[in-house]
Amino acid sequence: MTELLPVLTETWDAPRSWRLSTYEKHGGYGGLKKALTMTPGDLVQAVKDSGLRGRGGAGFPAGMKWGFLPPDDGGPRYLVVNADESEPGTCKDIPLMMASPQHLIEGVIITSYAIGCNHAFIYVRGEVLHVYRRLLEAVAEARRVGYLGTDILGSGFDLEITVHAGAGAYICGEETALLDSLEGLRGQPRLKPPFPAVAGLYARPTVVNNVETVASVPGIVARGVDWFTGMGTEKSTGHGLFSLSGHVTRPGQYEAPLGITLRELLDQAGGMRGGKPLKFWTPGGSSTPLFTAEHLDTPLDYESVGAAGSMLGTRALQLFDDTVCVVRAVSRWTDFYAHESCGKCTPCREGTYWLKQILHRIEEGQGQDQDVDLLLDLCDNILGRSFCALGDGATSPITSSIQHFREEYQAHIDGRGCPFDPSASALFP
Ligand code: NAD
Ligand code: SF4
Repeated sequence: MTELLPVLTETWDAPRSWRLSTYEKHGGYGGLKKALTMTPGDLVQAVKDSGLRGRGGAGFPAGMKWGFLPPDDGGPRYLVVNADESEPGTCKDIPLMMASPQHLIEGVIITSYAIGCNHAFIYVRGEVLHVYRRLLEAVAEARRVGYLGTDILGSGFDLEITVHAGAGAYICGEETALLDSLEGLRGQPRLKPPFPAVAGLYARPTVVNNVETVASVPGIVARGVDWFTGMGTEKSTGHGLFSLSGHVTRPGQYEAPLGITLRELLDQAGGMRGGKPLKFWTPGGSSTPLFTAEHLDTPLDYESVGAAGSMLGTRALQLFDDTVCVVRAVSRWTDFYAHESCGKCTPCREGTYWLKQILHRIEEGQGQDQDVDLLLDLCDNILGRSFCALGDGATSPITSSIQHFREEYQAHIDGRGCPFDPSASALFP
């Protein structure tokens, strides 16, 4: 049985957990004090050795990304924290920033010191004003005691943090669209390469890291690389937040080593609500291919989930019991992608629109016999042909649901409508 661990979540239940004093009482800022005695190069090496992989979804090795920055040319370089959490089902960074914002801020200071950045940005999703306010307050608290500003703790290192609220577009979670938005432009993805590490914010070298990635850095520095690599698997080291939602008895955040299984997490979460059978689930948010009850014992690490045909993504585990119509669920997610498509490239802009139309007509009893193959054909013309990951992600729930539940699509077409009672599931109204 894999043990759950409180690392990032350690102080979440403490009274006024978001206060600097609470964080310090639990050892907070010990990592920064140690980091300032190390050289930036040693810090980058420690994060490389820890195997920490980006927690925003793609799982790219964080230390390697930091190592891609070109040599110092005397000009500015930036750290931008991607706090634009918006993937359907993904809900880990927002609770982290609400409950323990100093964890993130300590991570920002250590990371900035390691990469030679004197001005860091936290780009927060526009709809979550309460998170924006909490971060502003936390930055001010850290500044008051000398963790930010000039000559931090007498080290000679200077850092300012700007907290910026987006305007509510999902595409601004894509790192280059985020940078455009931060520069005051309309948020649309840029062509890569150059990657942000080479030409990012204001065309300067920039590290873009997810909230949970940055918040994991103080623990690695304070407790050591061996402590971190002692958790998880060989290639997916450390701990992570697993967000359980949907038809589960106790939904919420479960922090555990990577490689834990859904069966183990469900044991902790009280099982499926009402004891009903699990029908399908997302391992990492709605843009990752669906899993079924067959995958309950798949270790939730990058390699195992990939080998089983999906992606670990953001570890947003949305669980659905047998009252849920998979066509309806996929149709709602597709509405989201069609709405959020930024319109820059044709396969995604036009393709998501047509996916939505076809799914709606199947749901409404107007489906035609060739519609399931038409959906697959459209997905084939979007996947790998879109400018960014949004287009690809929009196809995942469709192709995987057809793979696992093709007969349910056919039942909608043959029966001229949905065979499920939409009020039974209380999800996807
Ligand atoms: P990606 O694999 O293209 O890139 C991952 C990171 O590695 C980026 O920061 C990129 O700049 C960097 N990188 C890759 N190759 C590089 C190189 N050669 N040199 C320098 N840097 C390099 O993935 P992505 O498009 O950034 O992200 C897609 C992921 O985002 C999906 O897996 C999805 O799960 C996730 N996602 C998350 C959310 C959310 O709310 N957190 C929302 C949507 C999607
Ligand atoms: Fe925009 Fe979609 Fe193309 Fe990405 S894939 S650039 S979101 S239209």
